[in-house]
Amino acid sequence: MQSFTYVGVPGRVVFGSGTLSRVPDEVRALGCSRALVLSTPQQADAGRALADQLGGLAAGLFTEAAMHTPVEITDRAMQVVAELGADCTIALGGGSTTGLGKAIALRTDLPQVVVPTTYAGSEATPILGETRDGVKTTQRGPRILPEVIVYDVDLTLSLPIGLSAASGMNAIAHAVEGLYTQDANPIVSLMAEEGIRALGAALPRIAADPSDREARSDALYGAWLCGVVLGSVGMALHHKLCHTLGGSFDLPHAAAYNAPAAPEAMARVARALGAADGPQALYDLARRIGAPTTLEAIGMPEDGLDRAADLAVANPYWNPRPIDRAGVRALLDDAFHGRRPKAA
Ligand code: NAD
Repeated sequence: MQSFTYVGVPGRVVFGSGTLSRVPDEVRALGCSRALVLSTPQQADAGRALADQLGGLAAGLFTEAAMHTPVEITDRAMQVVAELGADCTIALGGGSTTGLGKAIALRTDLPQVVVPTTYAGSEATPILGETRDGVKTTQRGPRILPEVIVYDVDLTLSLPIGLSAASGMNAIAHAVEGLYTQDANPIVSLMAEEGIRALGAALPRIAADPSDREARSDALYGAWLCGVVLGSVGMALHHKLCHTLGGSFDLPHAAAYNAPAAPEAMARVARALGAADGPQALYDLARRIGAPTTLEAIGMPEDGLDRAADLAVANPYWNPRPIDRAGVRALLDDAFHGRRPKAA
């Protein structure tokens, strides 16, 4: 018999091709008329085009969004919000731009429209990581969760293959951990398995042809589902290692570490990827789409592995298989050398 607690993440989602044209209506539906459009410097042209399209509904444009939401940039954006009298934000971009919209909402409770252009999934979560003096702290809260997501597949066509692979594997990682987390539940597990299936099928097609719109559509759909998983349930070992290592390249090995304690979750991963073994299927997918499969390839020094293992076990946290240093050190060694996990 199952026993679980399920909490839904509220939000309105508009999904399709050409849906960017629906943003003005979404702003009006929120009762807003002075939107501040947000982007990174790299996507400033797209931000400007959206502001032009909004016409009188746009109060202005702020194009300084940056990775890991530095508070100095949020402070500058807050000045612009006040000067322009903005009554909502529209974040056009990946997790970095979404993070800035969330940071503004945390301070002002302004409604957020997010137009995602990567597979990060941040738009579907009430989670914000901010950086102050180089230290990142993460918090959750209802103000942080965006009110409206407008997914426009057309905007993802320009996402380079490398970023598509990295961001897609990161999304899959959220779903894998969501399957074996402490507060897993059947609804979120449905979304996790479907998210892994959709991304697992789409990413190799995108790697072969980044202009494949059907594959882009499937990947964005999968990214949304994986984002909902991240926003709904807690994470475990892989996520902690990500924070230590700064990437999601240990996913197959973290999954292999947990496989003995989470056989049902791994069976679902295997089923979603049409393979016999979950961790091996994750490894094979990463290789197939050209995502880095060794910690060495992302610049991790081999003599840093001991320190990484120490950090990973320093603060105890829940994980399906108890965390032991020797096991984590062995996992990191496998990830460093990019060894294919052994079948469970
Ligand atoms: P990103 O937003 O940093 O984007 C990377 C670069 O790609 C940027 O220069 C961006 O302008 C560019 N870019 C984005 N979409 C593009 C497109 N379609 N075409 C061309 N260029 C494009 O990368 P990301 O991976 O989306 O986000 C990473 C950040 O998001 C991290 O800071 C991470 O911590 C955060 N994040 C937060 C959550 C959460 O729930 N809070 C979830 C996932 C990620």
